[in-house]
Amino acid sequence: MRDPLSNHTEDIGKEGFKLLDCAIIGGGPAGLSAALVLGRARRSTVLFDDGKPRNAVTRQSHGFLTRDGVTPAEFREAARRDIAKYDSVEFRSETVASVGKERGRFVVRTASGGAFEARKIILATGLKETLPDIGRIAEYYGTSLFSCPYCDGWEMRDRPLVVIANDASKAAHMAQVLSNWSRDLLVCTNGSRLTAEQREALALHGIRYKETGIRSLEGEHGRLERVRFEDGASEERTGGIVVSEWRQAADFAMSLGCRMNETGGIAADEARRTNVEGVFAAGDAAVISPAQLIVAAADGARAAIGVNSDLTHESFHPPVPH
Ligand SMILES: Cc1cc2nc3c(=O)[nH]c(=O)nc-3n(C[C@H](O)[C@H](O)[C@H](O)COP(=O)(O)OP(=O)(O)OC[C@H]3O[C@@H](n4cnc5c(N)ncnc54)[C@H](O)[C@@H]3O)c2cc1C
Repeated sequence: MRDPLSNHTEDIGKEGFKLLDCAIIGGGPAGLSAALVLGRARRSTVLFDDGKPRNAVTRQSHGFLTRDGVTPAEFREAARRDIAKYDSVEFRSETVASVGKERGRFVVRTASGGAFEARKIILATGLKETLPDIGRIAEYYGTSLFSCPYCDGWEMRDRPLVVIANDASKAAHMAQVLSNWSRDLLVCTNGSRLTAEQREALALHGIRYKETGIRSLEGEHGRLERVRFEDGASEERTGGIVVSEWRQAADFAMSLGCRMNETGGIAADEARRTNVEGVFAAGDAAVISPAQLIVAAADGARAAIGVNSDLTHESFHPPVPH
């Protein structure tokens, strides 16, 4: 079988670079921002994205200066328009299947059989959530149940809200944070038990809690109206926060040998270099918290500046042959 790398020049397109300066995997705010900085730095770059961002379920994104309230799709389209001005960047709407190192270069192979070589890699693949196992919860997620008060708390301010988490400590912590937006809070631990201290702290702030398992969530068109419990009781709630489990969206960091940090993100230094030479990490995949579009975009810019600095340094200080 012919090695797809032999097609490489044709695959890369626009400027016919044989060896890319950088391959970015993930086209969320982190990857897009990295692409913009690298385009402006005249670096040959391919950005791969398979269109499954973490916030795909939401109708509006909040808190990104100048873009408050845009849809996730509008945000990405605007970013792509900005980047389209820079000829050395190419978008590829496809899934990356593997990233490895061959002959001293990174080789990115796509699910459709393409292969690309790059000097540097930016992993900006984000995270994936697993919601608590509660009937119909996904119908409400992104419309009336959200993941983060900073993203959607303002729109739910002063309303009767619920905090849902399978882990009682995480539920209690989230209630503290959310209490800034509404005082009418019900903490639901879905069967797990709060400590006496946590109960006392919640009560002291007028926050109610219920530890009974949740039977179902009721409402229409994604708008939560009621939480029904296994003991038959129900509570009217019009929205709230769900604490989900999350995992890395892609396992390239693990397969390349990148170290992870104590919160489960890809460990990276100030310039977003990982412990594997030439591999950078940006956005939710590295930062974990706070998970914000603007934080991810800033992180992508840092990674791109790190990539460009290292490439520049290497061209001025090439390794001396022994
Ligand atoms: C419900 C919800 C609502 C939110 N609302 C807000 C908000 O209002 N404001 C705010 O600031 N933040 C919000 N966030 C957080 C925000 O979405 C994230 O912090 C942000 O998207 C992280 O950006 P990222 O670029 O790191 O990852 P992502 O945006 O998740 O992008 C990662 C990209 O990598 C791609 N990818 C992954 N693996 C591969 C592969 N193998 N090949 C090709 N492509 C791949 C994915 O398709 C995806 O497009 C919200 C999050 C959730 C869950």
